[in-house]
This record gives sequence, structure tokens and C-alpha cells, in this order.
Amino acid sequence: MRLAGKAALVTGGGTGIGRAISLAFAREGADVAVNYSRSEAQAQETAEEIRGMGRRATLVRADVSNSTQVDMMITEVADRFGRLDILVNNAGITVFVDLANLEAITEGDWDRIFNVNVKGLFLCTRAASRIMQDGGVVINISSVAAFGRGSSIPYCASKAAVNTLTRSLAIALAPRIRVVGIAPGFIDTRWTAQWGPQQKERSAAATPLKRVGQPEDIARLAVYLAADGDFVTGRTFVVDGGRTL
Ligand code: NAP
Repeated sequence: MRLAGKAALVTGGGTGIGRAISLAFAREGADVAVNYSRSEAQAQETAEEIRGMGRRATLVRADVSNSTQVDMMITEVADRFGRLDILVNNAGITVFVDLANLEAITEGDWDRIFNVNVKGLFLCTRAASRIMQDGGVVINISSVAAFGRGSSIPYCASKAAVNTLTRSLAIALAPRIRVVGIAPGFIDTRWTAQWGPQQKERSAAATPLKRVGQPEDIARLAVYLAADGDFVTGRTFVVDGGRTL
């Protein structure tokens, strides 16, 4: 087991990509704190699966865009596990607005998306870095939307900001803590549930590896970066089956 004895915190860890990462870490021997803000039942279910593997799991409710709640979350994790080795900044939100429809984007959309995806990532990383073990790892979940095409303009801009944060924080926290990013392409989660089977088929057909991504595709790279990527920092890795080549 590649993460035996380690403790991880996964924001938005009860659903989709976060859930797959939480379970993959537990399978490799890590104890996992599962953060959620609204999806308590799914977070509870994920924690129970982790416990079923013989690992420790704890549920932490916190809105990652609220610094008081973030600081309380990190204190709770430290109290429960006595250490923190891996933080996955996975929590994220968007709105689905055609890129050409500039008028449909509200100021509230900009504020909410940047508060969670950008400020929240910074707040969680700063608070976690205060208690992290030497050799700790922060994994930021970005998106290929950072290249410009995605669910909405504010979302694309927020994920480009995530990539810059990955570089800046890698410089700031080296050599004690590594900071890396994963930029998924289309991944089949509740996020993309609004897509019908035909849209998924079209996406698979346009992807060189001829399928849509699954949360486990992201989780496998997260495990590698946490366990083995010990000379890697500041970089963001695209996992999209070649779709954006
Ligand atoms: P998801 O299941 O909706 O995951 C989003 C998670 O973020 C949820 O668990 C949600 O928890 C959490 N979250 C949202 N706002 C939060 C807040 N203020 N505080 C704490 N947690 C919050 O969808 P997903 O597809 O797995 O997305 C996970 C990450 O992957 C996101 O960062 C997304 O941008 C990125 N991504 C997804 C795709 C894709 O195609 N699916 C592609 C590229 C990147 P609550 O419900 O409890 O709020």
C-alpha cells in the first residue's frame, strides 16, 4: 500500500471525482477526511466505504470559501488524525452558460465561482500548510476549461487561475510541500448528468482514446502524484484522453 500511515483531506470528497480520490487513497492505506458543504448523505456514504476498508474516515462540513470554516476544518482534521500529509482541493462550482452569451453571466456568477474555485483553494492550502507534515502534497483539481473552452467564461477563467495558483504555491511552499495540479477533460459525474447519452457518445467519438473519462481516471493520477511524484511540483497534468490535443 503506497499511502499507508498517511492522512488526507479531500474537499468535496463525497461526490464524483472527490469521492473516487477519497476511496483510492483509502485503498492505498490512507486515512481520509471527507469535506462537504451540502451533500451530507453522499459524504457519509463515502466515509462508510472508507471505514469498510479498515481505514479511519471523518466527515467535515465546511464551505471552502469561508476562512473561519476552513480554519475549523483543518483543526478538526488535526485533532482527529494528528497529522495531515495530503490535501486535495477538489471542491468546485460552475454555471452552464454558452460562451457567446456574455449577457447571461451575472456578477453573482463571477463572485460565487471565484470565491469557491480560486479563493477557497487558497484558503484551504494556507490553512493546511500550517499543520502539514514535511513532504506533504497539495493536489489542485483544475480543468481543461483553463484553455478557454468550458461550461462558462467565469469557470474557464477560474481554472486558469487555479493553474497559476499551483505554480505560485509550489514556489511558496517548496521544499517542504509539493503542489501539483490535475486538469480533467470530460469526466462522467453528476456535473455532466445533464448531458444525454448522445452528447456523451459525441464526446467519446471526438476523443482520441474513444471514451469519456471516469472519476477513477483522475484518482489513479492523484494516487501517483501523492505517493510517487516526489520530484514533481508546480505542474498541472491534463487527463482528457487526448481531447484537447
Ligand atoms: P461534483 O460531484 O459536483 O463535485 C463538486 C464538489 O465540490 C461537490 O462534492 C461539492 O460538495 C463540492 N463543493 C462545491 N462547493 C463547495 C463549497 N463551497 N465548499 C465545499 N465543497 C464544495 O462534480 P465533479 O465533476 O466531481 O467535480 C469535482 C471537481 O472536478 C471540480 O473542481 C470540477 O471543476 C472539476 N472538473 C470536473 C470535470 C467533469 O467533467 N466532471 C471536468 C474538469 C474539472 P457539496 O455538494 O457538499 O457542496
